[in-house]
Amino acid sequence: MSYLNDVLAQIEKKYSYQPEFLQAVREVFESLEKVITKNEKLYEDNAILERITEPDRQIQFRVPWVDDTGKIRINTGYRVQFNNSIGPYKGGLRLHPSVNLSVIKFLGFEQVFKNSLTSLPMGGAKGGSDFDPKGKSPREIMNFCQSFMTELYKYVGKDMDVPAGDIGVGAREIGYMFGQYKRMTGLFEGVLTGKGLSYGGSLTRKEATGYGLLYFTDELLKANGNGMDGKKVAISGAGNVAIYAAEKASQLGGKVVTLSDSTGWIYDKNGIDLDLVKEIKEVRRGRISEYKDAKPDCEYHEGKGVWSVPVDIALPCATQNELLLDDAKELVKNGVQCVCEGANMPTSIDATKYLQANGVLFAPGKASNAGGVATSGLEMSQNSERLSWTFDQVDSKLKSIMIGIYKNCESAAEEYGLKGNYVAGANIAGFTKVVDAMLAHGAC
Ligand code: GLU
Repeated sequence: MSYLNDVLAQIEKKYSYQPEFLQAVREVFESLEKVITKNEKLYEDNAILERITEPDRQIQFRVPWVDDTGKIRINTGYRVQFNNSIGPYKGGLRLHPSVNLSVIKFLGFEQVFKNSLTSLPMGGAKGGSDFDPKGKSPREIMNFCQSFMTELYKYVGKDMDVPAGDIGVGAREIGYMFGQYKRMTGLFEGVLTGKGLSYGGSLTRKEATGYGLLYFTDELLKANGNGMDGKKVAISGAGNVAIYAAEKASQLGGKVVTLSDSTGWIYDKNGIDLDLVKEIKEVRRGRISEYKDAKPDCEYHEGKGVWSVPVDIALPCATQNELLLDDAKELVKNGVQCVCEGANMPTSIDATKYLQANGVLFAPGKASNAGGVATSGLEMSQNSERLSWTFDQVDSKLKSIMIGIYKNCESAAEEYGLKGNYVAGANIAGFTKVVDAMLAHGAC
């Protein structure tokens, strides 16, 4: 057995009960075959694959909080600090009932490569809790966030580990956590990103993942023919990533016709009215079904189905494993040209392979959704120099980072004879930088 297969077999045995983590490892390892073969002895002697798949540490803790009836409720909190070879740990916090150690490990593992691709000095981490924010009052959200930080503050800091948002964590939650960190430590420092503008947040951070996804997609399309202009686009999700992906897609001349949330999806053949979506999701914190109340002409369907609409571009921006093999078949049948991931690992491995085999341009989230964490990196820079940059300054840096990521993925794939395989390109480019640093640091 080769070194790579050997390590994969060990991981599959040891973590057989962590399916999401194994899926992420398999996807990366498959792409690395040629790189590993080229450097097999060096990597094996230095246990590179064993080290890069085992987090530096995993912190798991109880989060007690008091609900509005006065009852004490308990959730589990996590922070997985995966790898800090190229910079302080960095990655979001997810609040969702599906959160468990496997999910946080998969996200932390992906984050290592994603952060490396941004070209900024950030290691990889992820955290969160199985707390479900849906249906909770503002006071319950605050109670939970304060309690979560009451434990987490021991393990984070501006030069150690800098969490941010992810599903279920936006500016409101970051504000409560920042306040609690400040109270516990007495420090006003850039310990979190995605902060409000009045206390150290960065302009463009809110828009960054969605905008970055479209800068990447536009570049990918241009390199393969023409850009976004005139394209019909399906987007899943209705959170921060989906909303700002839709906004930038329209600004670049595309027409977005779908959005979804956990209960259903909308199809508006005239193009989604984003002001209405923002009002429903950002102000009212409501369901996407409410869109139809204001726009009786559009279609609302319960359950899944976004990928059944004929489009040129599909942008999965909801969550992991939301675009499966049958969805890929449907998209190909309907003539899709390009799929770029806005969420983390939304496409299953078999669906990815089907899309690639059928000539669809496919970009993995660790490359195409890296604009969020890249802008978090820019927020950290602004906090360090105690200055704030303008929207245009941050936006133009974001754009050049996304174009840089595209070029890096393209050339890494080409260098290893895998032209057009952006999954391989992203994994190879992200991996080699981290490994260089690991080798330099010796056995640690
Ligand atoms: N949660 C986002 C991601 O998946 C952003 C992380 C961050 O800004 O640290 O990359």
